Amino acid sequence: MSMVDPKDCLFCKIVAGEIPAKKVYEDANSLAFLDINPRNPGHTLVIPKKHYETLFDMPENEAGDLFKVVKKMADVCKSGVKADGISIGQSNGRAAGQIVQHLHFHVIPRFATEGPVGLEGVLPVKKMDEPSMNKIVESLQKGTSAKPKEPAKPVKAAKEGEEEIDFKF
Ligand code: 5GP
Ligand code: ZN
Repeated sequence: MSMVDPKDCLFCKIVAGEIPAKKVYEDANSLAFLDINPRNPGHTLVIPKKHYETLFDMPENEAGDLFKVVKKMADVCKSGVKADGISIGQSNGRAAGQIVQHLHFHVIPRFATEGPVGLEGVLPVKKMDEPSMNKIVESLQKGTSAKPKEPAKPVKAAKEGEEEIDFKF
């Protein structure tokens, strides 16, 4: 459920034309425009025209349509600014660093001259042991109907009543 009234939403105002934006692409359901504070030349935001705060609020079929536009913009941005690569970023919720509360994908052109810094350059590696990893994969598998045909077998089976893993780091 969205916490922001679309009437007060910055990106809804861009969709409505109440706030100007440098539009790159538009179709019935999606809009792509330049980020006002680009991380690199050509940094583009792709949004659904309908107000959804996060990916969690959006129906799966609409998310699929939106991602087609993300793919299109990845191609357009790569050739448009002669980028060597493209990073795609998308944050859901304050914990993930989302600031504008209208679902958006960042399509960010990347250049060889920057050096190969991806997400792993921003978030440090957190070493986890095998039992912890097994508990996590089991927990994630419970949340999906599209389980792999042969789910990963835990090296050490979780014992009944064993302490629950704390996913907070
Ligand atoms: P977030 O941190 O929520 O993933 O990213 C929000 C993005 O929206 C930021 O990169 C920011 O520069 C961009 N942004 C914020 N306000 C405006 C605006 O009024 N116009 C445009 N084009 N981009 C904006
Ligand atoms: Zn909105």
